[in-house]
Amino acid sequence: MTQQKTNPRKDIHWADNIAEIVRNRAQQDPILKKTVKQKGYIVYDEKTPSGKIHIGAGRGWIIHDSIAKAMRDKGMKAKFILSSDDIDPFDKMNKDLPATYKKYLGMPFRNIPSPEKGYESFASLYFSQCTQKFEEYGIEAEIQSTGKAYDKGLFNRTIKIALDNADKIQEIYSRFSRKGSNGTKRLPFNPICEKCGKIGTTYAYEWDQKREIIKYRCEPNLVDWAKGCGHKGEISPYNGNGKFPWKVEWAAKWPTIGVAVETAGKDHFTYGGSRSVAIAISDEIFNYPPPYPSTRKEIGKAYEFFTIGGKKMSTSKGMGVSFVGMSDYAPASLLRYLLVKTRPHAVIDFDPIGTNKIILLYESYDRTERIYYNKEHIPNEKEARHEKRVYELSHVDPIKKTMPTQIPFTYAATLVQITGNVESAIETLEKTGHINKSISAMNRKYITERLNYAKKWTKEFAPDEYKFIVNKSAPANKLKKAEVSALLIFRNKLSQKREHTEDEYMELIRKTVSETGIAPREFYKAAYLALLNKEHGPKLTSLIKMIGQKKTAMILTTLEK
Ligand SMILES: [Zn+2]
Repeated sequence: MTQQKTNPRKDIHWADNIAEIVRNRAQQDPILKKTVKQKGYIVYDEKTPSGKIHIGAGRGWIIHDSIAKAMRDKGMKAKFILSSDDIDPFDKMNKDLPATYKKYLGMPFRNIPSPEKGYESFASLYFSQCTQKFEEYGIEAEIQSTGKAYDKGLFNRTIKIALDNADKIQEIYSRFSRKGSNGTKRLPFNPICEKCGKIGTTYAYEWDQKREIIKYRCEPNLVDWAKGCGHKGEISPYNGNGKFPWKVEWAAKWPTIGVAVETAGKDHFTYGGSRSVAIAISDEIFNYPPPYPSTRKEIGKAYEFFTIGGKKMSTSKGMGVSFVGMSDYAPASLLRYLLVKTRPHAVIDFDPIGTNKIILLYESYDRTERIYYNKEHIPNEKEARHEKRVYELSHVDPIKKTMPTQIPFTYAATLVQITGNVESAIETLEKTGHINKSISAMNRKYITERLNYAKKWTKEFAPDEYKFIVNKSAPANKLKKAEVSALLIFRNKLSQKREHTEDEYMELIRKTVSETGIAPREFYKAAYLALLNKEHGPKLTSLIKMIGQKKTAMILTTLEK
């Protein structure tokens, strides 16, 4: 037997677990305790709106949202704040931009016009494209702007501390740098050049503590992606005149906003990377306990990568799948379920194209739902508790009192193909008794959504074995004589009476097989060939029901010559 690491809290959902850890921290750490008393538990995340935002960031948003929800469920005053790092410099052209945008390189994103109409700025375009989708994903976040936080003077206190301790910050940088100290006198603050408006090109070299003024140069060759104008100036660093470099800013945000939880993707968590430096600055310069999963001494674990379609998609499209484009591949509610169910430390590569991943995800979701409503019993109580919690934390709308009607996804996919459209599929569902006519509007909407997605799935992503087209006439050339006559005998039984039930179809198949002496397997194969031009298909009795008894008989009749 292989030995497994025992985890006594296996039944506890990861978001609940984190909520408890952070609550304990706040009881033990006086600074955090005071912060939480004033502001509640702040779960924080941030993103630079430099272009289309990758789905990896979306994983972080759903993780943070789930932690905040878990905290609120425990009676903790908690909220998720997502800030747009809109004062970051524009440092790279992306392929969606016109060439004229080159002139903005080096400027803060919030000061660059939007490449598309209807948005306040470049930053606003890419950020609000994402946040507009939050409702669909059930993400409840307070949206902030890091640029506005500078404008309002929220960072003034930490800016002064950082500038007063510029040498110590330089020492922390060199401690984590492989090259060691570069002997630079650069201050940990980048002002916006008063002459050209760029923030990526300025070099601040002197801090006048008495006047609280910094001296800077806007340098032509400081970075290779933007050219400074050569201006020399002095300016107050406060109230939005500039910003910290990223690693210092990360650390400064924690005491400024009062952050208790902020995790990030693992690319930030490498040794000597931005998280290590930010932790040291938070601890040594601002004397604030770094947020979960880090402590003053330990970096903790980042969340893992989330990709759709793996390498094949990230390389062919350059940037991979964007958060905004993510719901083209699967419904938002289902993706949320996937991310809530999976521990943050597990890699997710979700490949919906030409695979059965979507089917498995729907089946898993439906099973969780049945467990939640006690419609499916599983002997392992811990697992049942865990599944119920996954359902609660992943559910986008308020949870209903009764379980929504489940239409198995493969059935929905077959049905919508055979009947040709969603409306006829619903009629068939009524006929077959899967749903009754008095079903609630909300339930009907739920089923319609599933059928619509199933239709899209079969068109765009489904492997061939799930794709069906009903024949207009049966391909006689693919069938043996004995098969044709068995199918015609079956046809006679079909057309004699009223509309049969599936059980009755089964009985008719049995009779046909025994009367003709054809092997059952051969009969089924022949029937699928006649109806779908395939050797396999969905359950035959159910297929006949979907095609309709009359139409099935008509197709088989084409075998008569
Ligand atoms: Zn300049």
